[in-house]
Amino acid sequence: MASDELRMPRRAALAGMLLVLFAGQARGGPAFSSSADVRGHPVKPGAPAKAARASEYTLRTGDTLSRVARQLGVSAATLAEANGIADPNRVRAGQVLNVPKVGEPEPAAARPLPPLPSPVVVVGGGSRHLVSEGENLARIATRYGTTVAELARANKLKNPNLIREGSELQVPGPPWLCPVQGPHQFADSWGAPRPGGRRHLGIDVFAVRGTPVVANVSGILEHAEGATAGLAYYLQGDDGYTYYGAHLDALAAARGRVERGARIGTVGSTGNARGTTPHLHFEIKPGGGAPVNPLPSLERWCRG
Ligand SMILES: [Zn+2]
Repeated sequence: MASDELRMPRRAALAGMLLVLFAGQARGGPAFSSSADVRGHPVKPGAPAKAARASEYTLRTGDTLSRVARQLGVSAATLAEANGIADPNRVRAGQVLNVPKVGEPEPAAARPLPPLPSPVVVVGGGSRHLVSEGENLARIATRYGTTVAELARANKLKNPNLIREGSELQVPGPPWLCPVQGPHQFADSWGAPRPGGRRHLGIDVFAVRGTPVVANVSGILEHAEGATAGLAYYLQGDDGYTYYGAHLDALAAARGRVERGARIGTVGSTGNARGTTPHLHFEIKPGGGAPVNPLPSLERWCRG
């Protein structure tokens, strides 16, 4: 929404009043419209009771932001934040507000989609490597940040110079750290439909805003930023996996080499998560390629 739509002429802005003064643009139909009733799937168990629905509300003459917020079961601050409203006094009749859902990060798509197939991969504490043509043990060791001796020992190799193309090697590695260091919760939202035919290719780890986000493994950190992702990062792990985190409140670590446990930033709700419950959107991309479901790895390293 362009910010100039939100400005009212000075003469109309009555100091201290939250009343909307402009009439004539309100729609004929009901002002409240919900898209949640066509989602076709139930609210997840354990979701907050107030887990309402992504919807729109068209402001009518006489509406105030605080009253509308109260009616919709969200705070006025949340409503203002979700709509980029800097000054709650400056709203107008006919203005369409996005009403954020409580407890879900992004609006769901209109039609349910089939489950997204994904191999069950638990990442961390070592990994497997398929030997390809021309590779030798030294090169593989370098890629995973280990040594030829460690690889030879882990795979009981008598002659480290003889590895067969197509054979699978165990790559020893340190255990993961949970990327969110503090009380948190997550559920399986892998493959969930998103607007525009997109799928949810990660898991959302919910935590209080400001909870530390750390490097789950050592690697090379890159910062990323975008309208959808907000403040985000890529971590090219020494384990051969690329990790991606989004919607951070702040980025703390400089780009470059980071060790396991380094503080990357803090949990937030930037990008298209603005106005929703703070969370880390987390993805795992083997070899930097197509993402796999991070749930099994998060369950192994973040629970218990
Ligand atoms: Zn997400």
